[in-house]
Amino acid sequence: MQYWNEQYETMNLEEMRKFQSGKLVETVKWLYERVGFYKKAMDEKGLKPGDITSIDDIAKLPFTVKNDLRDNYPFDLCAVPMEELDRVHASSGTTGKPITGPYTLDDMKQWSQCMARTLWAQGVRPNDIAQNAYGMGLFTGGLGFLHGAMEIGCCIVPSGSGMTDRQVMLLQDFGATALFSTPSYALTIAERAESMGVDIRKLPLRIASCGAEPWTVEMRKDIEARMGIRAHEAYGLTEMMGPGVSFSCEEGRLHVNEDHIFPEILDPETLEPVPLGTQGELFFTAIQRRAMPLLRYRTRDITTLVRKKCDCGRTLVTMEKILGRSDDMLIISGVNVFPSQIESLILDVGLMEPLYQLRVFKKGYLDSLKVEVEAKREVYDGGPEAIANAEKALKAKIQSTIGIGVGVEVLPLGSIARSEGKAKRVIDER
Ligand code: ADP
Ligand code: ZN
Repeated sequence: MQYWNEQYETMNLEEMRKFQSGKLVETVKWLYERVGFYKKAMDEKGLKPGDITSIDDIAKLPFTVKNDLRDNYPFDLCAVPMEELDRVHASSGTTGKPITGPYTLDDMKQWSQCMARTLWAQGVRPNDIAQNAYGMGLFTGGLGFLHGAMEIGCCIVPSGSGMTDRQVMLLQDFGATALFSTPSYALTIAERAESMGVDIRKLPLRIASCGAEPWTVEMRKDIEARMGIRAHEAYGLTEMMGPGVSFSCEEGRLHVNEDHIFPEILDPETLEPVPLGTQGELFFTAIQRRAMPLLRYRTRDITTLVRKKCDCGRTLVTMEKILGRSDDMLIISGVNVFPSQIESLILDVGLMEPLYQLRVFKKGYLDSLKVEVEAKREVYDGGPEAIANAEKALKAKIQSTIGIGVGVEVLPLGSIARSEGKAKRVIDER
């Protein structure tokens, strides 16, 4: 079979809107009757559940932001009592309390289905051996991939993240055909294999499903070339279920599981909807979940929604690669810059490795940026002059493409911390 769930993956727009409308109506009623936070927010807008009759009414509904989750930590936004929960995950929450992600048994089934759709679209089949190198635990990545792979029925090697030498050994000895990991960890594995003298391109590995952090097309191509595989993408967030919100198909486009998670793109300043095809901030409404469905959740992720026929045959709306989180946006000399834009240029120059960090600091009143990056081996072999030339080349590329002056320093090999999960790209010294 070509699709995991043909009915929903190829549904025509009119039917999809009808389906989404029904689910939204149910969810709004569910929340109004069970969650004080949403009842209050709707009452303040003079809204009753009956005012929401179709998905087009979504714009009337209140927003949910990350702080609402913190203020209601851990379970005040939960619509079911604890004894009806089947699972609780939590996101790292870089500062303060984590964000909780509770699931009912049915929410778990939906998640597994969304992840099975993802992996199936990316070519995972029952006869595959899947090495799951996402962190297994409270983080939704590891178990989300596990559940999807279990639905498909492939053989799972739950290697978890870390112990990279052993990851390489397992790839060799168990002969995984699929790898699940963050893009930066896939790169760490590739690099370690190279230094161990193992050529992953000669192993049975053929696909990777990467996600949980922003990465560029250039980075994807780098991983593909070094491992001799096809690298696919999964996107998601704890607040909506974890991975499985959107997935890349064989055409490389990211389809949103919009029958479960309804996406909107809004202007981050005015919070008004922008026309399809316009960049803005992604908001999601969980229209089928029951433990803690959120209305119009502000992700802070910047992207564009596109509804265009995809050659894979799926009609699910597509989103462009995430440019970054609005929190990670830097303003350098008055220009907005995302780490991912710098990453493309680092790889574009052809002299550097995708191992970098961006140091942001104050120079007088202004924010300044220094790009610290490791170069390709041949650059180091060329001595100080080759290194200086590589630095100049990247500096010039950033100046001519983004229009900002930055410092560039090629650090000695091995200076940048190797990622085992989500890479930390920005060091803020302001
Ligand atoms: P945390 O907020 O602790 O990082 P999550 O694991 O829930 O917790 O992270 C979700 C976020 O990770 C998303 O909102 C997005 O910013 C990022 N993310 C996940 N998948 C991708 C992807 N494929 N591309 C870009 N960013 C991603
Ligand atoms: Zn497609």
